[in-house]
Amino acid sequence: MVGATLGRPRIGVLSIQGAFAEHARVLERVGADPVDVRAPSDLDGLDAIVLPGGESTTLGLVAEESGLLDALRARLADGLPALGTCAGMIVLARGVTEGAQPLLGGMDIVVRRNAFGRQARSFETLLDVSGVSDAGEGPVDAVFIRAPWIEEWGPGVEILAEHAGHGVAARQGDLLVTAFHPELSGEHRFHEWLVARARSRRERGDERRERHVGAQ
Ligand code: GLN
Repeated sequence: MVGATLGRPRIGVLSIQGAFAEHARVLERVGADPVDVRAPSDLDGLDAIVLPGGESTTLGLVAEESGLLDALRARLADGLPALGTCAGMIVLARGVTEGAQPLLGGMDIVVRRNAFGRQARSFETLLDVSGVSDAGEGPVDAVFIRAPWIEEWGPGVEILAEHAGHGVAARQGDLLVTAFHPELSGEHRFHEWLVARARSRRERGDERRERHVGAQ
């Protein structure tokens, strides 16, 4: 495969709008090959995907128009690991508290958009994130920009961090979401988690292929 480095997972970054270039840079730093995703065919051969921040209505509408939303929904149902930040978290949610907009779903959460109100539209804070900040490197430098929070969640969802009494990071299986922007503060642990999930998915795929070949 031209350009693919052995052992580096291929991780897609939805590159329609918003903070996608920053995610690609962090992914490179933590050992992955980032791939721009703009059309359904860009999903071929990916080991994981990042859904970046931006404007979730625009992201959803543009992705719906190109067929990318349906294609991505199918890949997520097939177990593709994903990291969604801010608008990416909204797009991964099964619902929003107000209005209607195209969503991928996949994660059993309902989010409130622009939840922190006018006074606190953008802010930066140190945050304890379960499984991340307790692993040795300390709290997460979390940048919130017109961020959502998690208003409802199902039994399969683990809330990993709270701010002002509301969930701002969560995990459900191989899906991880943050209301803040780890890619803007030099934070790399969320992307490392995604790379680890991508590697283990790739290994499971290799095993399946070997079993299949062995059975012939
Ligand atoms: N407020 C945006 C939305 O609702 C999200 C902001 C962001 O991604 N930084 O889509």
